[in-house]
Amino acid sequence: MEPADVLVGLDPEQREVAEAVRGPVCVLAGAGTGKTRAITHRIAYAVHSGVVDAQGVLAVTFTTRAAGELRQRLRALGAPGVQARTFHAAALRQLTYFWPRVIGGDPPAVIESKVPLLRAVCRSAGREAAQAEPRDLASEIEWAKAGQIHPEDYAETVKKIGRTPPIPAEEMARVYDAYEALRRERHLVDFETILELTAALMTEHGEVAAEIRRQYRYFVVDEYQDVNPLQKLLLDTWLGDRDDVCVVGDPNQTIYSFTGASSHYLTGFPVEYPGATVVRLVRDYRSTPQVVSLANRVLEVARSPHRLSLVAQRPDGPEPAFTEYADEPAEAAGIARAVRALADRGVPLREMAVLFRINAQSQVYEQALAEAGVPYLVRGADRFFERPEVRKAVVLLRGAARSAGAGDDLAPAVHHILSGIGLTPEPPAGGRAREEWESLKALAELAEDLAAQGADLPGFVAELERRAAEQHAPEVEGVTLASLHAAKGLEWDAVFLAGLTDGTLPIIHARTPEQVEEERRLLYVGITRARVHLGLSWALARSPGGRPRRPSRFLDGLGGRTAAPGRTAGDRPAVAPARRRTVAAPVGCRVCGKTLTSAAEQKLGRCASCPVDYDPALLESLRAWRTAAAKEAKVPPYVVFTDVTLQAIAERAPVSEQDLMAITGIGRVKLERYGEAVLALCRAATQKTEDA
Ligand code: ATP
Ligand code: MG
Repeated sequence: MEPADVLVGLDPEQREVAEAVRGPVCVLAGAGTGKTRAITHRIAYAVHSGVVDAQGVLAVTFTTRAAGELRQRLRALGAPGVQARTFHAAALRQLTYFWPRVIGGDPPAVIESKVPLLRAVCRSAGREAAQAEPRDLASEIEWAKAGQIHPEDYAETVKKIGRTPPIPAEEMARVYDAYEALRRERHLVDFETILELTAALMTEHGEVAAEIRRQYRYFVVDEYQDVNPLQKLLLDTWLGDRDDVCVVGDPNQTIYSFTGASSHYLTGFPVEYPGATVVRLVRDYRSTPQVVSLANRVLEVARSPHRLSLVAQRPDGPEPAFTEYADEPAEAAGIARAVRALADRGVPLREMAVLFRINAQSQVYEQALAEAGVPYLVRGADRFFERPEVRKAVVLLRGAARSAGAGDDLAPAVHHILSGIGLTPEPPAGGRAREEWESLKALAELAEDLAAQGADLPGFVAELERRAAEQHAPEVEGVTLASLHAAKGLEWDAVFLAGLTDGTLPIIHARTPEQVEEERRLLYVGITRARVHLGLSWALARSPGGRPRRPSRFLDGLGGRTAAPGRTAGDRPAVAPARRRTVAAPVGCRVCGKTLTSAAEQKLGRCASCPVDYDPALLESLRAWRTAAAKEAKVPPYVVFTDVTLQAIAERAPVSEQDLMAITGIGRVKLERYGEAVLALCRAATQKTEDA
């Protein structure tokens, strides 16, 4: 392949990235603008034009899946010899290679979890530590190590930054210190230590540094907005005093701050390397204008200092659909139906994804897809019934079911068993610990739901086994189920963002404004995964008849939901579920939930026969205005707005342009021509109602 061939198919800015063959280079750009594409082409171009040997390149990214994709794209560009790895994999390789030579003996063994060591530590630690959940302590140590905060500085640092540790800071520092001591004594390394030790080997042994630097001369880091201080330390050590480094990222997709990552390394890159080539990309090649416009609206309300507006390059597609469901099983069934419908229209299953906030949410979607006979794959986590904590729980429940007395209350019995394996009243702080807890919680909630339907313990266990069997068959091709975190960097033709309720997105434990903003960025990441079809949905209760919940506050003002009369679209909804209104392209009637088939009913968002509340005076004034507007433009009235559209406007009483646009049949042109007049009428009507 000729070097010039590699540049074909790049736009001018992407080409600028590729042609900046020597670092430092920084690409700051929004989702879907071709960052990953630009760096793979840059690497291939450098290799083909002889700037660097393929073996001299180290491309680093954050997940194994993303590293695999990089390798695949590089192979397609005729640069198969390039190393594309995660920070961990690259470091572990170097550590295991140099350890025997430099330190002598076997390299330390890698531990996947800190919990067993922490259990041992806590037995002899203070009272607070002994009572704490080891998983909370593990997350805290991970955070500290990723941030390069050592045990001796820990207590002071958390106080200075106002962080609340799981146990008093001084005691946490002692546990952290004891954990590190025991880990070293047993010759073990955890994920963070792999990075630390590799950097230390290079710093302390000149010959190791020289050899690694002789091998790797050319560094590229994707998703650089999520780099943490420890990874940055390793990257700096790899580089030494060289600057052949290219970083790419999107500050608005920073979603790992909770683990200690910081987008400041990305945004501060031009300051760190004053001579750096900085390129910004704004054209979005991934998504339709409809999806891009929604993503831009999310960025508009975000309090991000990195304002940017993506410019869509693809042809038009369908409007994103916002759908409200009565409960989660209905939501999951609705999504499964929508998946089927798209599959029938020729969208391959592997080009569809259902994305959610936490892995424990996957169970309800796994079930619905299994029931609908739709194959699926769970990414970034095991299938629900294959997760270790769920298997353990099922074994215990099965045992208990055998000895259960008739008439034992199901929910308390299940709760009792699950609390024995970690279902605490309050969830642990984060990470894997929290995921395990969420899985157990999902089981407990399922027990509550089935108890309400009269199930006993043996019945519950039988149901679990039925579901496990149904969800078992591993699939080679299917719909992807993944958390928003695991979906980063990926794309599908159709994306369903499920479970968008307050408390799930933003997640309930996001309390500070910064944490809430990180949750909003997760929504942005989710939306920007879709190429063409995008569905956003939420359920007003978890189970049928359950406690009411409200849609995610992030949906306010996005145009998908119209506000109730008198309420501005930016307000947080406080209306009772029954009054809440749906939305563009609904799957079901907003009154009775039945699937809508006729275009007119879809436009109304309800069955023609279902009762609605609207202001008849408003409809009258809209009609009168239409007659006048039609006369003035010398067109028949239906050209201005059809009867159905007028009715829909009256029912939804929009208060903003976005609300108005959310009504099917009102696009940009109509908005520009008539928006102001219609909104004025609606506002006047709302005012009258409020005054009355
Ligand atoms: P993210 O922020 O989500 O990681 P990204 O900026 O890395 O996104 P890519 O994954 O590189 O974006 O590209 C998004 C999609 O757009 C891909 O399908 C890619 O092939 C396509 N694409 C990028 N640039 C171009 C281009 N110049 N011409 C045609 N398609 C392009
Ligand atoms: Mg990318």
